[in-house]
Amino acid sequence: MFGFFQNRRRQKLLAEPFPEWWEAILRRNVAHYSVLSDGERATLRDTARILIAEKSWEGRGGLHITDEIKITIAAVASLVLLGIEHDYFSRVDAILVYPDSFQTPNIEDDWEDDFISETVAEGQAVYRGPVILGWRHVLDESRDPACGHNVVIHEFAHQLDFLDGAIDGTPPLATPADEANWATVMTAAFRHHQEQLKRRGETFFSEQAGDNETEFFADASESFYCHPHDLDEVAPAVYELLKGYYRVDPRAWAWPAESNVPLG
Ligand SMILES: [Zn+2]
Repeated sequence: MFGFFQNRRRQKLLAEPFPEWWEAILRRNVAHYSVLSDGERATLRDTARILIAEKSWEGRGGLHITDEIKITIAAVASLVLLGIEHDYFSRVDAILVYPDSFQTPNIEDDWEDDFISETVAEGQAVYRGPVILGWRHVLDESRDPACGHNVVIHEFAHQLDFLDGAIDGTPPLATPADEANWATVMTAAFRHHQEQLKRRGETFFSEQAGDNETEFFADASESFYCHPHDLDEVAPAVYELLKGYYRVDPRAWAWPAESNVPLG
């Protein structure tokens, strides 16, 4: 019965016109929005609206939550859901937003600000708990995918990874063959990255991606959405794998042409 009422509520919500000024926020704050196809844009708007309505959005560290914050974060989170079957991150009840980087709160203290750890983060995904984000990083990165990082994509990729009950860099997959293929491709790419880090050369993936396969998947997801052409060049097997998983092809999106104007 719960599903019935939930579906009816969602249908009612999506029957309402999408607010024009929300569209303006998407155009201004979410660079990905402008490169998607019309169909993908419509899916993204619908998914974002449901995330906005069904999650508890809470400001922390003195931040007042606005519609701009909600629509921006919800739209970027919806990017990773564009092609896959999903349940709107049903295990993520709340999205907590700090003004900037934050010292991670402790679960025992109900995520309040009074008791914090020594760890400073731009984002955090808690297993069967909230996603926590620093708004300044969200905004900077959402406006500029070319920077190669996106903390919202990173943390929500973790939440996809957590869905099968294991924090291991492998989200739920359709078949045992898919799981075997995932392990082969991702483990090889992860080990290769660790080797490169040891040699202290320049690496495509982040230093944090070398910590474990969980971080590697989240970091590779950022590259997949923000630097798809580069990821495809550096690690084509990873690109193909993520394309199969996310069921979108970011290389095909209408990215702005790189400026070739010679410097005078
Ligand atoms: Zn992470």
